[in-house]
Amino acid sequence: MEIRCALITGGSRGIGKAICLKLAKLGYKIALNYRSDEAGAIEVVNLIKNNGGEAIAIKGDVSNYEDALNVIEKTKEIYGTIDVLVNNAGITNDKLILRMKEEDFDKVINVNLKGTFNCVKHVVPLMLKNKRGVIINLSSVIGIIGNAGQSNYAASKAGIIGLTKSLAKELGGKGIRVNAIAPGFIKTDMTEALSETVKEKLKDSIPLKRLGDGEDIAEVVSFLCSDGASYITGQVINVDGGMVM
Ligand code: NAP
Repeated sequence: MEIRCALITGGSRGIGKAICLKLAKLGYKIALNYRSDEAGAIEVVNLIKNNGGEAIAIKGDVSNYEDALNVIEKTKEIYGTIDVLVNNAGITNDKLILRMKEEDFDKVINVNLKGTFNCVKHVVPLMLKNKRGVIINLSSVIGIIGNAGQSNYAASKAGIIGLTKSLAKELGGKGIRVNAIAPGFIKTDMTEALSETVKEKLKDSIPLKRLGDGEDIAEVVSFLCSDGASYITGQVINVDGGMVM
């Protein structure tokens, strides 16, 4: 089988880490991007290498246009190409609207939505040249149903859905598929801040009665990358234990 290369943004922990490990297991060469969590990024690279895979870590803030270009260029330089881009890097900064400052809104939009645009913008010329490519964007159920205290996050994740669908229409004829995944509540640092009481209440409201794991998302990413998904584009796949239906 031809070895393919996948670039995963925010791959140093949480969902991104699970995606890196899963795709590496499937034989992909992994380029994982991180912003500051160098120890986490090195740990993921070592885990992959110790299992016989290939991986590199590339530092860069995806919300910065030049950084995003540098991450794509470095990946290209080392692996020669990029077959799969997973836009996973994301942040929250939850506040009710009365307390939310302009910078609280801008920061979340800049990382989650603009960061996705920045990476797509720089990778698409390469995928067009290859006449193939897979782009997977991490949205959220919150981008579909909204959430009090998360207007910035919900707007960024809803924006990702519009971006995904537009890109799918634009690039479908060129062999590039673009899909989004909308996770529900997944056990990572992002949801660690929730109290045990809130987590118990959440579990109770989820039809499958548990929070998700990074691996639940990684499984769907691996399917969307595969030839089995070759007729799927422009979709938002909820991976949420039935939370939103
Ligand atoms: P996480 O554990 O907080 O990890 C976030 C990752 O993104 C880290 O590797 C972090 O690296 C990186 N990152 C953050 N800002 C970055 C930037 N500006 N440039 C490059 N990398 C950056 O988050 P997670 O829970 O795994 O979430 C991953 C994605 O899934 C996010 O897009 C999130 O919105 C989405 N999601 C998560 C859940 C959930 O329940 N966990 C639900 C729905 C959607 P550094 O620490 O180095 O910055």
